[in-house]
Amino acid sequence: ELTYFNGEFVEPGAKVVSIDDRGYTFGDAVYEVTRVVNGRCFAWSYHQDRLYRSMREMDIPVKMTPDDLTELLEIMCEQSEIKDGYIYLQISRGAAPRHHAYDRSKLEPQMLMYIKNLDMDAIRKDEDGVKAICLPDERWLHVDIKTTNLIPNILAQTKAEKKFAYSAILFRDDICTEGACSNVFVVKDEICYTHPADNKILKGITRQMILTRVAPSIGVTVIEKEFDRAFVEDADELFFTDTIGGVIPITKLERNVVGDGKPGKVTKRLQESLNKLMEEGLP
Ligand code: PMP
Repeated sequence: ELTYFNGEFVEPGAKVVSIDDRGYTFGDAVYEVTRVVNGRCFAWSYHQDRLYRSMREMDIPVKMTPDDLTELLEIMCEQSEIKDGYIYLQISRGAAPRHHAYDRSKLEPQMLMYIKNLDMDAIRKDEDGVKAICLPDERWLHVDIKTTNLIPNILAQTKAEKKFAYSAILFRDDICTEGACSNVFVVKDEICYTHPADNKILKGITRQMILTRVAPSIGVTVIEKEFDRAFVEDADELFFTDTIGGVIPITKLERNVVGDGKPGKVTKRLQESLNKLMEEGLP
């Protein structure tokens, strides 16, 4: 474990953040989570592009060039010697006496980053299939920006875990958007469906990997379109995708089994193919 804050390495859990930091008082910050596989960041350039986009959308000035940031992540991987893990990176707008409106000229963005080990056994266990519940999507209309302001997500995730589910599938006006902390795919007649990457979902990097690399490489068709709860309930297969878990088969939806209650055939192929890509690595 290694922690970085504003230009230096600090003790993990160090109390270094100002109580006036807007990340703390308003959730006024953006973040990324990247997987470390075989001691290297997987698909970092994709995460980096999304991070800089989030900052542009939030009007947070960029203080570090993409090359310098990439180098910093490489140093984190090397110095920590972590092989299987993840990096959490957060940039807040900065610290100022509490006032809703911000003044860009008076704020210095604050960057926090840490690298931690992952329990790969727990991740492998989820690959055998998990339970999901359905909940209303109560978030704002710019969830394509990856901000730390995650109240609806954490409430939904807590409700799910209280029901012994892995996570929740969210519905906005009966349309399935995504998971509480992942994207959602439905498989019907061997074709995959997922919500279009608009303002109502986070454009997940794992989702992008499935769409642009993994599915094409094994001849699976993925269609980006809106679908409703009845379509989800009628699915042959269902799965979540996210950076930490990869492809996570959903084998139980509320009280019902999905398909025959085992991870679906298409889901399994995508999962294996994604895991292979992660082993190979991608800049
Ligand atoms: N949607 C939400 C709401 C998320 O929080 C996440 C990340 N945990 C994802 C989708 C998946 O994105 P990624 O594949 O980039 O991890």
